[in-house]
Amino acid sequence: MERLGLSVKIGLECHCQVTSLKTKLFCSCPSDYRGKAPNTVVCPTCLGLPGSLPVLNRRAVEEAVKVALALNCEIPRRTIFYRKNYYYPDMVKNFQISQYDYPIGVGGKISVKVNGGVKEVGIKRVHLEEDPGKLVYKGSIEESPYTLVDYNRAGIALLEIVTEPVIKSPREARLFLQKLQSILEHLGVSDSSLEGAMRCDANISIAGGARIEVKNISSFKEVEKALAYEIIRQRSLLRMGRTVERETRHWDEVRQVTASLRTKEEEMDYRYFPEPDLVPIELTEEFISSIKKAMPELPDARRERFMKVYGLNEYEAEVLVSEKSLADFYEETVKLHNNPGRVCHLIIDDLLGILNLKGLSISNSKAKPEHVAQVAGLLDNELISIKMAKYLLKKAVETGSYPEDILKAEGLKVITDKKRIENLVNQVFKEHPEDVEAAVKDDKVIHHLVGLVMKLTRGQADPALTYEYVKRRVNQLRKTKAT
Ligand SMILES: [Zn+2]
Repeated sequence: MERLGLSVKIGLECHCQVTSLKTKLFCSCPSDYRGKAPNTVVCPTCLGLPGSLPVLNRRAVEEAVKVALALNCEIPRRTIFYRKNYYYPDMVKNFQISQYDYPIGVGGKISVKVNGGVKEVGIKRVHLEEDPGKLVYKGSIEESPYTLVDYNRAGIALLEIVTEPVIKSPREARLFLQKLQSILEHLGVSDSSLEGAMRCDANISIAGGARIEVKNISSFKEVEKALAYEIIRQRSLLRMGRTVERETRHWDEVRQVTASLRTKEEEMDYRYFPEPDLVPIELTEEFISSIKKAMPELPDARRERFMKVYGLNEYEAEVLVSEKSLADFYEETVKLHNNPGRVCHLIIDDLLGILNLKGLSISNSKAKPEHVAQVAGLLDNELISIKMAKYLLKKAVETGSYPEDILKAEGLKVITDKKRIENLVNQVFKEHPEDVEAAVKDDKVIHHLVGLVMKLTRGQADPALTYEYVKRRVNQLRKTKAT
């Protein structure tokens, strides 16, 4: 019992809207419901009014098969829709059309890079269902005096992707979700930048405790935080000698805590029965192989290509491909300035750091491939220093202004003029005789003198040339001292 609470088991249920569709899953209401007035993008079918009949969106099945194939699933030839019965205000008809024991895909896997190794996360199933409506609270779910319901989202095609409970830490969960998201974006099936397009339920248990389900985590980004919170909460319960009982909790994003929704006794037992208004669907060999043939390049293949074509190492390729928009950004930049290594370093070492600090992503910042291509070109022609390159990228992110324009406007350029550097070095030697004396005795102080020249020129002196001149002068002084 000493190891109580140490080992962690996490399984995820990911809900991804099929944002590539123009209409909902079973009716012709537009799928573009965001920003519309509440309850205006609805019809009798998606509200489940008496007499209305669902008609399956064929494109939704194609997209689901595409995802199942990309996740290495088997595709059963026959798929059936069920009614999942429950009573909850987000579904007016009191059942959700979902899939039960005949989903679109079963038994897949995704490989994820974890701590330098490769971990395979098993995928139990991939199925299609309709999204329920959205409950809107005032502030947090706990404190809200009322609940509003918006049915615009009801009936949107949703893919549920369920993993085996093999994930060992919140970090692994994040890496898995990042990979899944990159795959879905490469397929063009789901756009994660849309609010609410990706949601998650997480099952988590730690040795010695029961399984806890955390429902409705509103984005993949919040999953890691919710899981980390749960591990601390469950471990401290066990440490205090209490028990972790099976329950369903809710991730409160406002307060960054999980809160109990219901305990085991109240847990719903869904009754499933086949949806009588939809016929079983036979997925033919031709249908599946035509989708297989049209599959776009997926992240793993793209990573390999980046290594082969651009000469990147595995880590670099992995970072770039972790987000489709980042990989696209990289390739566009290389098209504009053909120095793949230089461009990769500028993006990974500099641009991503700047974006992180500002809480921006590559797609919502003002930086464009043209900016990075210009900076790479200036560096290749030795017209700017690395320090200036960083400054120019920061400006591009903040203002969208072009590096070459900034250089012109601010008069910033690397000083490569040998005569000028010689003069600058002379000036520093005159102004800092003690440092010069120290440098004659100790090589290490030479770098300090180079730093003084850089400071004098606001970082514009060419560092290699400056070093050469400083070193030469120190050596001259050493010779004159020796004689
Ligand atoms: Zn509708």
